[in-house]
Parts: sequence; structure tokens; C-alpha cells
Amino acid sequence: RVAEPTSLTAVTERSLVLIKPDAVARGHIGEIVSRIERKGLSVAAMEMRTATETVAAAHYAEHEGKPFYAGLLEFITARPMVALVVEGPRAIAAFRQMAGGTDPVEKAVPGSIRGDLGLETGENLVHGSDSPESAAREIAIWFPHLV
Ligand code: UDP
Repeated sequence: RVAEPTSLTAVTERSLVLIKPDAVARGHIGEIVSRIERKGLSVAAMEMRTATETVAAAHYAEHEGKPFYAGLLEFITARPMVALVVEGPRAIAAFRQMAGGTDPVEKAVPGSIRGDLGLETGENLVHGSDSPESAAREIAIWFPHLV
């Protein structure tokens, strides 16, 4: 008897995605949502808002004390952005691949969101959760009513 092949694609995940204020100001909401949908992922929740200091600090708690932390919080809270819960098979890794590396020039490859649209490590258009634990933590911060 042959064992059933295990299918990685059977694992449905949720990722917390942010379309950061630079991407919103540059008119890329549609471009980024379109890429998410073209990939085959679905948008389970989406809300435009200006992040409060409290939400931004909770989201980026791991970076507190780093040289870029104050600037990062100022950037994230200054203008409206869009928060999404993106859902699908391996959604966390899939969106991280679509986003590209943190530095849009040195790390993000062409074809990725940052590689195609970005120039700066700070203003790098998007955020995507990096693990199931991060996703659960971040979804609870941005969409507490969904948890
Ligand atoms: N960031 C920055 N300078 C740095 C490193 C990070 O401004 O030297 C910002 C950047 O916006 C990045 C965010 O802090 O997206 C979070 O950093 P992380 O290392 O978690 O990168 P990500 O997971 O977003 O690729």
C-alpha cells in the first residue's frame, strides 16, 4: 500500500500584510492588491487607516532600540496605510516572496513588489508576517475583532 503524498499546498495560512504609507501615497494600493489576487491568495480582511503610535509600536516591538526605530514609527504613523489579512496555501511564505527582501535595491529581486517599485529600505512599500507566530500576533494587533 502506497502512502498518500503529503501536500504542502493543503496548509491554509493567514498573513498580516501592510501596504505602507509610501505605497498608498504613490497610488499603489491597487497594484499590490492585484498582485496578491493574481498569485491566488485571497483578501480575508482589509482596512485603510492611519496607524496609532500604540498599534505601530506593538507591531514593531522587536525593533525597539534599533537606530531606525524612531524613524520607522514616524513613517508608519504619519499618513494613511492599508492593513490586510491575506489567506491561502502557504500564504506567509508566498507573500514574503512576493514582497522581496527588505532592501529594495540590494535584496529584493526584480519581479517582487519591492524590487519593482522601491528604492529605500525604510520606505519599502509593504510588510508581510514572517512566521505563523508573527502572523497570529500581528493579526491580533491590527484586527482584534477577527481573533
Ligand atoms: N527598516 C529600516 N531600516 C533598516 C531595517 C529595517 O528602516 O535598516 C524598516 C523597513 O521598513 C522594514 C522594517 O523596518 O521593512 C522592518 O524590518 P524587518 O527587518 O522586519 O524587515 P521586513 O520583514 O519588513 O523585510
